[in-house]
Amino acid sequence: MSIMEGYEGDFENRLLAPESIGTDGDDEISLRPRTFEDYVGQEKVKENLSVYIAAAKGREEALDHVLLYGPPGLGKTTLAGIIANEMGVNIRVTSGPAIEKPGDLAALLTNLTPGDILFVDEIHRLSRAVEEVLYPAMEDRALDIIIGKGPSARSIRIDLPRFTLIGATTRAGQLSAPLRDRFGVIFRLNLYSNEELAKIVRRSAGLLHIDCTEEGALELASRSRGTPRIANRLLKRVRDFAEVLGSGVIDQKLADKSLNRMEVDELGLDEVDRKLLKTMIRNYNGGPVGLETLAASVGEEAVTIEDVYEPYLMQIGFVARTPRGRVVTDLAYSHLGMTPPGEKGKGDAQQMKLPAEE
Ligand code: ADP
Repeated sequence: MSIMEGYEGDFENRLLAPESIGTDGDDEISLRPRTFEDYVGQEKVKENLSVYIAAAKGREEALDHVLLYGPPGLGKTTLAGIIANEMGVNIRVTSGPAIEKPGDLAALLTNLTPGDILFVDEIHRLSRAVEEVLYPAMEDRALDIIIGKGPSARSIRIDLPRFTLIGATTRAGQLSAPLRDRFGVIFRLNLYSNEELAKIVRRSAGLLHIDCTEEGALELASRSRGTPRIANRLLKRVRDFAEVLGSGVIDQKLADKSLNRMEVDELGLDEVDRKLLKTMIRNYNGGPVGLETLAASVGEEAVTIEDVYEPYLMQIGFVARTPRGRVVTDLAYSHLGMTPPGEKGKGDAQQMKLPAEE
């Protein structure tokens, strides 16, 4: 029997995906805070950034290069927009995979006006050749261009306008050391608390003219996996239920009922999370199981499991990392209504164990 059999979870268009998906639409843009006041949470980051911005403005300089890292949907792109807004400069938005050749980057950089911000999402996916053009650009605000070929080739240096690079990545560990070292400011964004997410839900509800009570917002928040993008998406889906099945108001009861119907449980886990945990329990006796093995079992890429599913499962203490692989904790067993192996000895899970792969 294939391990994937019976998998109804849709990894691509998942309701709880922290990445942007098709149904997010243009609303995401209008829901984006434009100022620090509207940007909820991440207090340390905001405080420090405000100081750096005020200092750079006072000296009439560009802000130092900034690296933002953390799981998707936590507000890295939004923060870059706010920085541009507060500095009063333009922002150019691109991403690592979109800059294919050194020439693409050279074209972007030479077209900047003084003070501009260049935002590069997924900066860990820049090719080595492009990265090498970036080093002198970041350090000396210069481009080294080779003209001609063979013995007659020569290098000329072009000065660039002063600019700020803001890089965003889900995986700071994958950035090469020389690139990481060239950022003067590095911030990690953390998952949001339920109170912060409830505030975001209330703000978005106001902008979208949705009637949402405080308890309703908190219910949505507690099921959004610490991620603003998911909170906003759930708000929009629950609004549909409120309009069609209720009186149009999102209160705690309606939010709970709608989310149950969407199979988002009270901790914000969906079918995919549950299948992931159950695969670890049923096929690997709760672990330890290696990331690659687990990824193959559920038909998902290892990086996606690591970046997208795991941070929240670890934050709520359902999955732990050990040197030998991932393990499911007793907390997860009880949430799924299953008995941890420690309590029932060599039970069903043991019998279903597959041959060790690692
Ligand atoms: P990332 O770039 O980290 O993937 P985004 O900046 O695109 O995340 O944020 C996703 C959405 O979540 C945005 O559209 C924005 O509306 C909302 N959002 C993110 N962070 C915040 C915040 N701190 N306060 C309010 N809304 C936020």
